[in-house]
Amino acid sequence: MTQVVPDTRIDHNDTTTDSAIRVVPHIIGGRQLAESEHFGKVYNPATGLVTASVAFASRDTVDAAISAAQAAAPGWRSTGLAKRAAVMFKLHEIITSRKHELAELITEEQGKVLSDAIGEIARGVENVEFCAGLVHHMKGEFLEQAATGVDVRQIRQPLGVVACITPFNFPAMVPLWMITTAIAAGNTVVLKPSEKDPSAVNWIVEAFHEAGLPEGVLNLVHGDREAVETIIDDPRVQAVSFVGSTPIAQSIYTRATALGKRVQALGGAKNHMVVMPDADLDAAADAAISAGFGAAGERCMAISVIVPVGDIADELIAKIKTRMADLTIGEGTHPDSEMGPVITSEAKQRIEGLIAGASTSGAELVVDGRSADLPEDGFFVGPTLIDHVAPGMPVYDEEIFGPVLSVARAQSFDEAVELINNCQFANGTAIFTRDGRAAREFEFAIEVGMVGVNVPIPVPIGSFSFGGWKKSLFGDTHIYGPESFNFYTRRKVVTSRWPLPDESHINLGFPTN
Ligand code: NAD
Repeated sequence: MTQVVPDTRIDHNDTTTDSAIRVVPHIIGGRQLAESEHFGKVYNPATGLVTASVAFASRDTVDAAISAAQAAAPGWRSTGLAKRAAVMFKLHEIITSRKHELAELITEEQGKVLSDAIGEIARGVENVEFCAGLVHHMKGEFLEQAATGVDVRQIRQPLGVVACITPFNFPAMVPLWMITTAIAAGNTVVLKPSEKDPSAVNWIVEAFHEAGLPEGVLNLVHGDREAVETIIDDPRVQAVSFVGSTPIAQSIYTRATALGKRVQALGGAKNHMVVMPDADLDAAADAAISAGFGAAGERCMAISVIVPVGDIADELIAKIKTRMADLTIGEGTHPDSEMGPVITSEAKQRIEGLIAGASTSGAELVVDGRSADLPEDGFFVGPTLIDHVAPGMPVYDEEIFGPVLSVARAQSFDEAVELINNCQFANGTAIFTRDGRAAREFEFAIEVGMVGVNVPIPVPIGSFSFGGWKKSLFGDTHIYGPESFNFYTRRKVVTSRWPLPDESHINLGFPTN
C-alpha cells in the first residue's frame, strides 16, 4: 500500500505560522509541557485552516514520560481496587455530563459531524463503564484442596508501564478503549495519540486527573515516529497497544515482539457487506449508506465493499444511488450535515486518486464523488459508488478509508464467502438476509473477527472485546472488555500448603497429588 506521508512539522521560526496559535501540550506527571523543537500543524479539516500546533516529543520528553509512569507504578499498583473503581465512576460522570465539549474538540480536528462525535464518545464511555466493574474483572480463581491440604489460586497482577498508541479516526474512543483498561488493571501508561487531532486526548487526560487519578499514572506525549519508536524501545515499557494502519501495525508488532514485549497491534480494514437475494433491499441500502459514508468512511468498521449475491445488484445499486443524492455534506458543526470532510488534503488526494484509477482498471464509476457539489474549502470528498470492482484493482486491494462504496458482484453465497476469505483484511463483515440458515452458515464459514447479521457495523458492546483477524490484528488479544484485562495483566498461580510440624518430611520426587 502506498502512503502519502505529509510533512506536518512546523518550525516556529517560520514567519508564515501564526505565533499566537494555541499549542497542544504533552501532559507528564500531571503537568503540561509545551516546549519542543518541533511542532505539528493541527487543521480543521472542514476549513483547511490551521487551528493549533502540537508539540512533538523528543527522546528526552518521552524518557521523562516513561520515568513518570515508572515512578507512579508501585503506588498505583498498591492502590485499593475500590479507589481505582471510584476514579472510573467519576470519569464516567465527567465525560457524560460534558460530552458536548469533547465532541466539539473531536469535530473541530477530526471533521466528523457532531452527532457522530457524540456516538464515538458513547462507545468509549462503554469501556469506562465496564472498567468501573474492575473489582470483578480483576478477580482470580481459587481451588481449595487441589491435593490434600493444598490450595491453588490464580491472581492477576498489572504489567507495569504500558504504551498506548492511537489513530486519528477515533481520537477519543480508541484511547478510552485502551488507557481505561490499562489503568483499571493497575498499570501506568504512556499514551501517544495521533498528531492529527490531539486535543480530545488532552481533554480526556485532564478528565482522568479531575476524576482523582494520581499524577504520573497517565502520561501523554504527542509526536510521530520518533516518539513511538523511543517508547517501544525503552526497556521499562512492558507492553504496547497500537491501533492504526496495517503497515505501521505490522512494523510495531515486529519491533516490539522482537524486544520480548506483549503487543496487540490493530491494523486496517476492508469490510464487506453481503446482500443475499432474499434480503430487504431497502434496509440493505440504508445500511450501506450509513456504514459506508458515516464519518466519511473513516471508520475501521466502515462498509467498503457491497457484495450483492445473484441478480439483485442492479436494483440494490439503484436504491443506494437514490439515497446518495439526498446526503447533506458539510462542516461537522452544522446541524444538517450528515457527512464531514476527510482528515487531510493528502487523504483527499489519495482517495481521489483511487477513484480516478477505478475506471482505468475496469470498474464502473456509478457516482463520482469528485464531481459532487461540495464546500469549497476544507478536505471534502463526495460520496462515491463504484460497480464491477474486483480483486487485483487498487480500489479493491487497498484500504480506501474514505467515502467510497465499491460493489463486487457475486453469483452465489459460496463465491461471496470465498471473496471475503481471500481478502488480506478481516476486521468486520456483515450479511443481510431473511434466511437464518444462510446467516448461520456465513457466521460459521467467514474468516473475519467481527460479524454482523443485518447489522452493518458490528462493533461489539463493551462487555465483549473488539478485534479483527489476519492483517487487521497482529497479536492474539482483542481490545477493551474481558480480553483487554487479560492483555494488561499477568496471571500468577500460587500453590499453598500449611503443614503441621509433624506432617513435614523429605521427598526428592517431583511433587504429585
Ligand atoms: P497510522 O498508522 O498512520 O497512525 C497510527 C498511529 O501511529 C499514530 O499515533 C501515528 O502518529 C503513529 N505512526 C504513524 N506513522 C508511524 C511510523 N512510521 N512509526 C511509528 N508510528 C507511526 O493510522 P491513522 O491514519 O492515524 O489511522 C487510520 C488507520 O487506522 C486506518 O488504517 C484504520 O483502518 C486503522 N484503524 C483500525 C482500527 C481497528 O480497530 N482495527 C481502528 C481504528 C483505526
